[in-house]
Amino acid sequence: MLVKNARLRKQEGFWQIHIQNGMFQQIAPTVVCEDTDVLDVDGKLVLPPFVEPHIHLDCVYTAGEPRWNQSGTLFEGIALWEERKQQLTKEDVKSRAWKAIRTQITHGVQFIRSHVDVTDPSLTAMRAMLEVKEEVANLVDLQLVAFPQDGILSFPNGLSLLEEAVKMGADCVGGIPHYEFTRDYGVESLKKVFEIAQKYDKMIDVHCDEIDDGQSRFLEVLAAEAYRLGMGARTTASHAVAMHSYNNAYAHKLFRLLRLSKINIVSCPTENTHLQGRFDTFPKRRGITRVKDLMNNGVNVCIAQDSIMDPWYPIGTGNPMREIEMCIHMCHLMGYEEMLQSLDLVTENGAKALNLADRYGVEEGKPANFIVVDADNAYELIRDMAPVLYSVRQGKMLMKRPHAEPELFL
Ligand SMILES: [Zn+2]
Repeated sequence: MLVKNARLRKQEGFWQIHIQNGMFQQIAPTVVCEDTDVLDVDGKLVLPPFVEPHIHLDCVYTAGEPRWNQSGTLFEGIALWEERKQQLTKEDVKSRAWKAIRTQITHGVQFIRSHVDVTDPSLTAMRAMLEVKEEVANLVDLQLVAFPQDGILSFPNGLSLLEEAVKMGADCVGGIPHYEFTRDYGVESLKKVFEIAQKYDKMIDVHCDEIDDGQSRFLEVLAAEAYRLGMGARTTASHAVAMHSYNNAYAHKLFRLLRLSKINIVSCPTENTHLQGRFDTFPKRRGITRVKDLMNNGVNVCIAQDSIMDPWYPIGTGNPMREIEMCIHMCHLMGYEEMLQSLDLVTENGAKALNLADRYGVEEGKPANFIVVDADNAYELIRDMAPVLYSVRQGKMLMKRPHAEPELFL
């Protein structure tokens, strides 16, 4: 395949991209080749595919079952899911997960990390998602987190279910320390997460401090343990919304540890804007972690959708541009350079959190995975929330969006 007249991020002019055997062969202003499979993108921006570093594919499309979440709190969501998950079957989970992955593909996502609830004695969702992972292998990279929704030490057999799910084939060990019964349980649960990750050579992705409680300080425990064991690059803290409520002196101290530990942070802008601040009167906290401060302090931070129509978040489309839109508003990231940089939050930074390393990026010698967006540059992409026109996976067309201009009657 030869991609003609592409614009590349942070590069001037037009570029030609020659793809052979599923790899980027040559990327240059002029390319001489006789390939007849030509895609002229007419000056549109070519990017590496979007990364979705945090979603719950086992829960998607269950909003309203058995009832809608009326309070809008995380806790009513967990209670509703507890009821819904009694009805899970492998087919139910697989068909909903597939539906979500299909829609994610239409939005240019090719790399996904999904949490899967393992506080279920039958581990139905994990069994289903392991099958989905195999089925979609040629379409998207799908990483699975063994996620103990109801706790590791606060749920009957939580620890053995977590380990069992990891043995079955999960890529990451999860945790939820702020939801454990006590602070001590929370700290102890994180120790167990590291033990299992080391034993089975897995990555770590913990729901950490997803609560508007300035006293919820499990992130420092996670980061300190990752630092001590040298596992920071393979460790992610998701949400970290309590950081919104930390005093500035403590946050300042924490940033040093986060930077030293090299752990990754995932923020979920739409989800946490919706769920947090629910116990406040006025003024209401935004309840989103300090994305801008983390970026400015050299911590790798990325953003994620988290939910599509589930007990925690009733809407959602799987489109990462919605997350950028919310994030740049809520986190005051609309300085011109900040807006351009915000594209990293759904591309490079997510790839780093997922440890994709040399498999990610529009560069010679890497797998030819890329998207073409309906914009000339990053600024227009963000301003216009421009759609993805093409998604190409290892040199093969994965998605093509029919392009229809609106008709005006002026
Ligand atoms: Zn989550």
